[in-house]
Amino acid sequence: MEAIIAGGTVITMGQGGSIREGAVVIEGDRIVAVGKARELKAKFPRYERIDASGCAILPGLINAHQHISMGLLRGYADDYPLKEWLEEHIWPLEAKMKGYDMYVGSLLTCAESLLGGVTTVNTMYHYAHPEWNEAKAIADIGMRGVVGHVCFSWRKEQDRKALEDLVRRWHGAAGGRIRVSVDPHAPYTVDPDYMVELRQLANLYNERYGDKGRITFHIHVAETGDEPEKIKEAFGVSADKGVLAYLDELGVLGPDVVAAHCVFLSDLDIEVMAKRDVKVVHNPVSNMKLASGVSPVVDLLAAGITVALGTDGPSSNNTADMFETMKFAALLQKVVLGDPTALPAHAVLQMATINGARALLWDEIGALKPGKKADIIVVDMKKPHLRPLYSVESHLVYAARCSDVKIVMVDGELVVEDGELKTMRLEDIIEMAEKAKEDLLSRLESEGS
Ligand SMILES: [Zn+2]
Repeated sequence: MEAIIAGGTVITMGQGGSIREGAVVIEGDRIVAVGKARELKAKFPRYERIDASGCAILPGLINAHQHISMGLLRGYADDYPLKEWLEEHIWPLEAKMKGYDMYVGSLLTCAESLLGGVTTVNTMYHYAHPEWNEAKAIADIGMRGVVGHVCFSWRKEQDRKALEDLVRRWHGAAGGRIRVSVDPHAPYTVDPDYMVELRQLANLYNERYGDKGRITFHIHVAETGDEPEKIKEAFGVSADKGVLAYLDELGVLGPDVVAAHCVFLSDLDIEVMAKRDVKVVHNPVSNMKLASGVSPVVDLLAAGITVALGTDGPSSNNTADMFETMKFAALLQKVVLGDPTALPAHAVLQMATINGARALLWDEIGALKPGKKADIIVVDMKKPHLRPLYSVESHLVYAARCSDVKIVMVDGELVVEDGELKTMRLEDIIEMAEKAKEDLLSRLESEGS
């Protein structure tokens, strides 16, 4: 479309800083101009006007670690210790999920995400069906995303087939809105040889399909303190110097590695991550809910490491709300370090936007700048909890809620207008999710776990 979103404060998250009474001009799927509303309205008089007065205009938020299919499991089991939660509750129900259930769970999470201002999601799950899967949900609802297939040592043959099909069918699909990744689950569930094999596979896919965007390597790392013991127990190898240091010895680290969590890190781990340009995704809400611990985000940033932000899956968060996650990220560092200056609002906004783009090696998103993809959100600041308005950035991190998002544009298409989803009927998605939940529970009851 040819449009001009004008009147609000533009937070560019780039060199443009923030612009009061600003505007963003869109042609097709790209941003072509960013500047003062008065000047740009005069320069582009015939473009469709989208009024954003009294609002904040910013890049779409990037949720850099998710498991969107798990939307169907939200609230099914809470307040259990991690092992019991997984083994006795989540895994038995997940085992009953079919491709269609994953699609429906994904649609639900995507709808929630878009309505809350998230335009790009990086998701790791089982790719089990060529049609009914996470990629199709993202494509159908008009979102942008990186979709991975999660790999485990116990199902190598199945993983190889799934990865091949995922890459061939979905990398660069939906007009380039979908990219894919190779996702070893974690260093304690993927043996050293298989980890190296997956690294080589990702390299091979990049040689073959890299022209449609980089295929990343998405992995859970150092989420809990006992990971070195679990690696030793499972594969008889030592990760005592740190889990990242162990992965570096295997030769699998590089700038395309997206490492979720990174809670328990040695000094050597941080050194290695900085050296290899590994990207970190911090998931503060999930880490708190599962009592995992606190990632040393301030140290990571000080070491020059790119730290993005994620919610983690809907069954360990339990929302896809990136505004909540931004606030938690800031507050958590402050309370743990006993320092109210730790991780200020601007740094958190960077984590949720431009750092997410850097983590996913997706240059065309994450900031409002001519040439970038038109992934833009408008947040309504005319709310009692967002007034008076001294600092837009402060309000976005500490006071705004995801329900304040009014307009969402992905790839130049309006997908949310006046806070309503435009691409699919929300009522239908909710009905599909409730029906899929009932079917899932009855299968669990009749077939057992
Ligand atoms: Zn996760």
